[in-house]
Amino acid sequence: MRLGNMLDDLCDVHNHFLKLEQRYYRIYGKYAGRYRLQPHLTKLLKRTKKHWVWIPRDTLDAVLIRLDTTYQRFFSGLGGLPKFKRKDRYRSAKFQSGYLLETGRVRLSFKEWDETSQRFKFNKRWFSYHHRYWKGNVRYIHILRDAVGTYWLHVVTDDSTTDPYLATDESVGIDFGMETYLTFSNGEKIQSPQYLKQSLKQLRKLNKALSRKAKGSNNWWRCVRQLARLYRHITNQRRDWHFKLATALCRRFDLIATETLNLDGMKRLWGRKVSDLAFGGLVEILQYKCFKHNRDFRQVGQWTATTKPCSDCGYENKELSLSDRQWTCPHCGSHHDRDVNAAINILRAAYDPIVEQM
Ligand SMILES: [Zn+2]
Repeated sequence: MRLGNMLDDLCDVHNHFLKLEQRYYRIYGKYAGRYRLQPHLTKLLKRTKKHWVWIPRDTLDAVLIRLDTTYQRFFSGLGGLPKFKRKDRYRSAKFQSGYLLETGRVRLSFKEWDETSQRFKFNKRWFSYHHRYWKGNVRYIHILRDAVGTYWLHVVTDDSTTDPYLATDESVGIDFGMETYLTFSNGEKIQSPQYLKQSLKQLRKLNKALSRKAKGSNNWWRCVRQLARLYRHITNQRRDWHFKLATALCRRFDLIATETLNLDGMKRLWGRKVSDLAFGGLVEILQYKCFKHNRDFRQVGQWTATTKPCSDCGYENKELSLSDRQWTCPHCGSHHDRDVNAAINILRAAYDPIVEQM
């Protein structure tokens, strides 16, 4: 019994139910939802998929719930459709019961069929981990495997004590961009460190080395792991920076307004660089931080015009093209920086009653 086997089985569960959802959709033209799938899982466990029984039921249910969440996010325009996953890409398991946490080790219990007594008995196993302290009561734990093959334990607690920052009476509109990462309505600009670009040379080198090695050989696998480790490093750097940025913003501003991201559109327009900038990740962290520190976070609807109207008089500059970084309003004559003007419009639109409040 290994954690890897469990993730492999959970991957099967994910793929099985995704296929089922797709078939259901083809036949009935709608989506089945988790309350139809969960009883079905019960049936499968008794009949054709007995080999899944050893995994705790709430861990199996968590797979269906996550599939459902992905669909719900898709319906509200926040993400893509769920995808079939490869075994080595399936990486997390959630435990709500059947575990015991102690300092430095966690016990998981799995069911095992006992031939002699013709009954299931619980097989309990300890896994040690590098201990860190947490606040509050533990709600559930996540076991994660990263691309390098390291297992991580995430402990999720009910500690939701907000620690509100002092009111500053300052608010800000933020415009996301390619040329300038963030532009504030007060004219400040922040550039992205572009971590992927920084490591591009190293990535190329590793990729080249990988292509020279025989696929599947020991050296090839070592190279694959090195690549995965480098990607993890880049992701961590970026995430770290996002957290620092979000904290700084929350300290300074009572209200933070951004536009609703249309990531697919951005990718079409700007290509791969968007992934390196990872606006989606930043917005998620910003949302979380604002919630935690009791700040007002608002997203202006996707269809609100923010670029073309003049922030002084409201005149809509229809001739404005993507390459115009500066422009002068033909109506009132004020001179605008393209991004600052947009940020001001975003902040203004955030005060409108029709804004989608998060
Ligand atoms: Zn004007």
